[in-house]
Amino acid sequence: MLSIMQNALHLLVFTDLDGTLIDHDTYQWAPAQPALCALSRIHAGVILASSKTAPEVNALREALDLADWPAIIENGAGLLPAHGQSAPDGHEYHQIRSALAQIPNALRRHFTGFGDLTPAEVEKVTGLSTTAATQAKERAFSEPGLWHGTENELSEFKNALQALGISTRDGGRFLTLSYGKNKSDQMAAIVTRYAPKHTIALGDAPNDVEMLEAAEFGVVIPNPNGRALPKLVGEAKGRIIRAPETGPAGWNAAILGLLEKLDLQKD
Ligand SMILES: [Mg+2]
Repeated sequence: MLSIMQNALHLLVFTDLDGTLIDHDTYQWAPAQPALCALSRIHAGVILASSKTAPEVNALREALDLADWPAIIENGAGLLPAHGQSAPDGHEYHQIRSALAQIPNALRRHFTGFGDLTPAEVEKVTGLSTTAATQAKERAFSEPGLWHGTENELSEFKNALQALGISTRDGGRFLTLSYGKNKSDQMAAIVTRYAPKHTIALGDAPNDVEMLEAAEFGVVIPNPNGRALPKLVGEAKGRIIRAPETGPAGWNAAILGLLEKLDLQKD
């Protein structure tokens, strides 16, 4: 089945979840259903690409009926294989936690990672539900946390981690430690593997920009809760467009428009 689809794969869609395919506040994706059905009809692949962990993405991927496709998790630090293949074993996460244990305590004590917190404490710092906070702690590839030290101590902390091969990324609220891969690195590997004729990427935040720029067509979903993304490379030529609405409604309109443009509405 997979090899037949692989041979005839016209389109792979890479999409962020929160604020993009899924509404920020209601967590619904019903407005995107017409476009999801159109993609399914033409056997296009949909790759979820999120900051969420394996258990969180797995549940959503099942609900979206996309379990035949791999998903990009933990902001690109890792991959969730297609359904039925083995789940991530978490050894990278354990390596990151072991590296943290090697950092001098004068610096280490200023960083509180999710691994240092109980589920109830993660719930408190993230505002997630109890279930979601528990799943957010089930990490395989990256460690987000809060920084309590000074800027100088932070750069010393980053240098000490870098010497151990670990990258840091400031995400506004959380500082995330990983081995440095982002959503577009995973996207490149998936594109190589499936060799689709066309690619589309959709996202609403700075951590989606590399993915939007790497796709044949990028769609910026307006984010009413955050600062608008600056003008991206490719927007002037129309390779990157802005969706007319926020969240799943914008997702729906943009995908249906691009399917028409690519003449891919029918099987
Ligand atoms: Mg988002």
